[in-house]
Amino acid sequence: MAACDHGPQGGTPGPPLGDGPRGLVFNVQGFSVHDGPGIRTMVFMKGCPLRCRWCSNPESQSPLPEPALNPGRCLGLGKCGLCLPACPAISAGPGDLPSLDRRVCRECPDALAKAVPRCGQACPARALVVHGRPMGAAGAIAAVERDSVFQARSGGGLTLTGGEPLAQGAFALALLGLARSARVGAAMETSGQAPYGLLREAAARLDFLLYDLKSADPAKHLEYVGAGPETIMGNLISVCRDFPDLPVTVRTPVVPGFNDDRASAEAIGYFLREVPGVSHEALPYHAMGAQKYAFLGRTYEMGDVALGDGALEAFRETVATARRPGKAARQAAARRAANVRDVGD
Ligand code: SF4
Ligand code: SF4
Repeated sequence: MAACDHGPQGGTPGPPLGDGPRGLVFNVQGFSVHDGPGIRTMVFMKGCPLRCRWCSNPESQSPLPEPALNPGRCLGLGKCGLCLPACPAISAGPGDLPSLDRRVCRECPDALAKAVPRCGQACPARALVVHGRPMGAAGAIAAVERDSVFQARSGGGLTLTGGEPLAQGAFALALLGLARSARVGAAMETSGQAPYGLLREAAARLDFLLYDLKSADPAKHLEYVGAGPETIMGNLISVCRDFPDLPVTVRTPVVPGFNDDRASAEAIGYFLREVPGVSHEALPYHAMGAQKYAFLGRTYEMGDVALGDGALEAFRETVATARRPGKAARQAAARRAANVRDVGD
């Protein structure tokens, strides 16, 4: 996803709903006020081509359903054990807890078929859950429309997010098309890492675009995000050129050790001069998703880092200053004026 600052509150989105193209969704969350105008219903879609080290929704990244085990919720094998007969990949582990063999899960025929794996039905305590369930586009829009009164009053609507919504391009376009037919305002939060043709198709169905730009530094972007920023930056210029009336907010998570330095903020500000109509938000790093990595059998690679005092405000100010047209020219003039004074003094 995305700047990935606002994650789902956990769990899976319930049974498949309705007809139409199907996709994998890992949460539908109403009453969001952070991801587009007004009150919004977020549809969190599975799959992302990027691997941001700080991603707060790691359950979004795989394009397939994925089991997660939260030991803190487990009732214990002695008292429960209902998961053990569900699948040979589940065995008795230490501490009266089940253990998942994720090598087996990677070959899970249910998951590969994008169906809900049988382990996802076994646990009464929601200690063992599966992230990602198939939903029909019509059913997903019906779920979004349940909040339509609040959306309409507040100027809100649907926000597609993830993961990267365009990783399921046909499904995303179907959702946006249905939203438009139903007069539901549509926003999308994208990483920008997608074929431009797909982004263009989506933008034609959008009322608002949230666009993540994590860094303009190719080497750092590759190291921390898993791909260079070139496609993302090029797509942003193209979509702003082709849809000059589409409101666009570019968002940057400010991440310790990655982009919380002055040069990174300046580079983003200088780049944003090429898209003068967009607004920019800097979001603070947080580690709220860290525990989810353990539930997925993964390691949170950011470790124990925190943003320094004032770093977010400094980042915002530096981006804003660097964006101002003519700053470089003004600086050069100031330097020239200083030289003149030096000579004249
Ligand atoms: S994901 Fe598939 S293989 Fe893994 S525990 Fe669930 S049912 Fe078994
Ligand atoms: S079914 Fe759930 S609560 Fe019961 S032992 Fe398995 S993980 Fe724990």
